[in-house]
Amino acid sequence: YVKERSKNDYMIFNQQMEDQSLERQLLETALRKGIKEEQFYLEYQPKVNLTSNELVGMEALVRWNHPELGIISPGKFIPLAEESGLIVPLGEWVLRESCRQASQWQEKGNSPLSLSVNISVRQLEEFDFVDKLKTIIKETGLDPKRLELEITESVLADMKSTIPILKEIRKLGVQISIDDFGTGYSSLSYIKELPIDTLKIDQSFVRDIHTNKESKEIAKAIINLAHSIGLNVIAEGIELEEHVDELSKDGCILGQGFYYSKPLKVGAFEDFMTDMHESSYSLN
Ligand code: C2E
Ligand code: MG
Ligand code: MG
Ligand code: MG
Repeated sequence: YVKERSKNDYMIFNQQMEDQSLERQLLETALRKGIKEEQFYLEYQPKVNLTSNELVGMEALVRWNHPELGIISPGKFIPLAEESGLIVPLGEWVLRESCRQASQWQEKGNSPLSLSVNISVRQLEEFDFVDKLKTIIKETGLDPKRLELEITESVLADMKSTIPILKEIRKLGVQISIDDFGTGYSSLSYIKELPIDTLKIDQSFVRDIHTNKESKEIAKAIINLAHSIGLNVIAEGIELEEHVDELSKDGCILGQGFYYSKPLKVGAFEDFMTDMHESSYSLN
């Protein structure tokens, strides 16, 4: 009986594995095709000064509009794109397209905004990443000081090898931000060595900052750490006025989240810029 059962379990297990890897293969093939056929587009989430309510920039977030499956969230396809290496061409497209868009907004005479782009460590590891970055900056005409690359903390934590690359990037004038900060177990001495400009407080600490003492203390510690070593700090996942209040009290002046705006398509982001501009006029 025992034998029978374990054999059964094994078969079920095996079947599940097969289904999973089949799904993965299908998704990978679709991803490859999607990149070729440009089924991707970008949304931009406003970054705001929490005290003055001014728009200071935007984060580009990639979206996949599959012809049959509809919109697929990055949480689903980014990990696969990273494992398969497809993040390299996809990430390059995101960088070029967002820089082109930001440069166009810059030329239209909008107040200077900074563009944040998420970069996978797989991209950083490509031997020609910095060359590609230089080319994109040159081609699009974006002021490199208006560009910031976001790299997730968890991958940087055991990646000393990326330090020279980060240094080269900063020499171009481009800024580096550590995304999801507080979740990646970086040691504090390591942070000191990293050539970076900004810490981005992970949304898990912001979500309950107004009700949970631990989250509140962690957010506060990150803000103080950033300031004491000369880094900027920004909070993500701001959904409530209480979040704004707590973060401002602790000295964090930049943030983004649904409270201000969800990520927006190009046209909607342009409307947002106009509204912000007009409301700042009416205040004067
Ligand atoms: P992230 O870079 O930490 O981006 C923040 C995520 O939080 C985004 O999810 C955004 O839509 C969401 N968000 C923003 N405000 C709020 C809020 O107030 N409440 C809540 N609950 N969520 C909020 P999204 O767009 O689904 O992206 C998820 C992750 O996928 C990103 O996390 C980033 O790691 C990755 N990703 C997105 N676009 C790209 C890309 O072009 N390249 C790479 N390598 N990764 C990307
Ligand atoms: Mg990000
Ligand atoms: Mg994040
Ligand atoms: Mg995140």
